Amino acid sequence: MNLHRVALKYALINAVSHEGRAEFKAVLNKIFVDVPEVKEAIRSKEKREEIFGIVEDSVRYVNSMSYDDQVRMLEREFGITLQMLEEKKAMKTRIGLPELPNAVKGKVVTRFAPAPTGAIHLGQVLRAAYLSWYYARKYDGKFILRIEDTDPRRVKRVYYDWIQEDLRSLGLEWDEIVYESDHFDEYYELTYRLFEEGKVYVCNCKSDEFKRFIARKVPCPHRDKQGAVDYWEDMISGKYREGEAVVRLKTDLTADNPALRDPPLLRIIESVPHPRTGYKYRVYPLYNYACIIEDHNLGITHVIRAKEHETNQRIQRMIADAFGWSIDITYVEYGMIKITGVPAHKRDIRSALRRKEMEGWDDPRLITIRALLQRGIHPEAIKMLAEHVGMTKHDIEDLSLKTLFTYNARVLSPMAKRIFFVEDPLLLKISVSGDVYTSRNPWIPGNEEMGYREYRLCPVRENGGRILRVYISKSDLELIRKVSEADSILRLKGLMNIKIKNIDLMGGEILAEEAGINEVKGVDKIHWVPAGDLSLKAFVITPGGTKEGVIEFYAQLLSNGEYVQMERYGWGRVYRNEGEVIYLMYAHK
Ligand SMILES: [Zn+2]
Repeated sequence: MNLHRVALKYALINAVSHEGRAEFKAVLNKIFVDVPEVKEAIRSKEKREEIFGIVEDSVRYVNSMSYDDQVRMLEREFGITLQMLEEKKAMKTRIGLPELPNAVKGKVVTRFAPAPTGAIHLGQVLRAAYLSWYYARKYDGKFILRIEDTDPRRVKRVYYDWIQEDLRSLGLEWDEIVYESDHFDEYYELTYRLFEEGKVYVCNCKSDEFKRFIARKVPCPHRDKQGAVDYWEDMISGKYREGEAVVRLKTDLTADNPALRDPPLLRIIESVPHPRTGYKYRVYPLYNYACIIEDHNLGITHVIRAKEHETNQRIQRMIADAFGWSIDITYVEYGMIKITGVPAHKRDIRSALRRKEMEGWDDPRLITIRALLQRGIHPEAIKMLAEHVGMTKHDIEDLSLKTLFTYNARVLSPMAKRIFFVEDPLLLKISVSGDVYTSRNPWIPGNEEMGYREYRLCPVRENGGRILRVYISKSDLELIRKVSEADSILRLKGLMNIKIKNIDLMGGEILAEEAGINEVKGVDKIHWVPAGDLSLKAFVITPGGTKEGVIEFYAQLLSNGEYVQMERYGWGRVYRNEGEVIYLMYAHK
């Protein structure tokens, strides 16, 4: 490590973040965080003088430069731009979202309109759900949860409940819930009106037949038939079967986008009952038809949605025109988010489920809200990520879940209990001299009121000596080898220091000897679990499969659903505490 360079870097960052003036203490603190050895080194008087000298020189040098030179040097020397600093800052403080265009306090009405065709996933919440809720609250308006359940072939009863459960878990409470399936009669009445005004017709073309007509920009034979409303009644009464008739809106057949030429509004589905209305209705509205009717009737003022909906928006506008409604909705559009490394879209999840690659919608590998919450992502972290992503209009191609995990660790750190879980345990036998050893680790570091996990460990007699037995993780083997080769010591957190004597993998045990009780600076620490009665069997459910190991006795005190940090292993949540066996969910490192 080149301290001159590190000092220069932080002096520059500090300066450009504070109108061109770096401050010695701030720079020093940043160096402590980045290079912890420096903090230790300044305990010695000589080292301290040397280090302070270097930092003072850097600060003086940087402060002698112009702001523009500082910015240039930071970029040239360290590849750090002002924009990167801004972004980092935004990550740290919760960013206020921008004002909503055309928003009037007390008058904003927003809606989140999921279809009950699966569990809500992170992508839906980050934008549509969170922002609609946020802005309704911000302007003392109304947030409506609208269930878009007009396709009985796709909706399932259970998802109605899940949508509500998941939003409640996130704290996104709605002021009103609306089921589109409650409004079928109303859709029919409105459709009668359009028939009476000659603005729609029943089309019996097969889909490819119809495409051929509109490709040539000519009407199909059904468009101008007399007595159109009779055909509509035939649709409702059951004269036509599924696939034999649709209601189409008469539009401009010369529109450049073929999707805008006489789009369908309603169609027949009689093959499956609707989960809420059974077989009572057989003609169901298509998405755009129900959507614009609802937006109009509910007095929605702002629709926050993905920009991919442009064609839909134009179709909805044409429907509104047909009804003679002047629609005063502000459409706020955002870019797509692609979350890397996981099947994010419902269709991907559904096909993974079909292929049996996933166990269910709460499979820990999924980023449905219920899977994330269950595995130990705190609702607050999801909200923080939503504000972080905000209303960016450009597409975000690679939103890494790591950003969510960073927020989550920040939320959980002051509240989650710590516990030692040892995966793939190896027995460590320590020859000791004392009769009793106590270990003491805080439930939550920095929060003494929460108390400690305290153990009194008694060595057993073996071959004339005294042996203390603990479990350590196989994943620490490499570190143990390194320490052993260097003939240095290792610390068992909260217990003692040890010196490795022998690594016997065939016998599955490691021999060590006691090397002092007091903590020594700069010594690697590993976690451990007392062997014998003070250890319990534990399973940790991770996205990569279920891991088996041992957990310390105090895990018995944890409640189901409680957040934990398995020290040096990862954040997570207690899934099921069965007393003798503890099941945990792993969230992230
Ligand atoms: Zn036709």
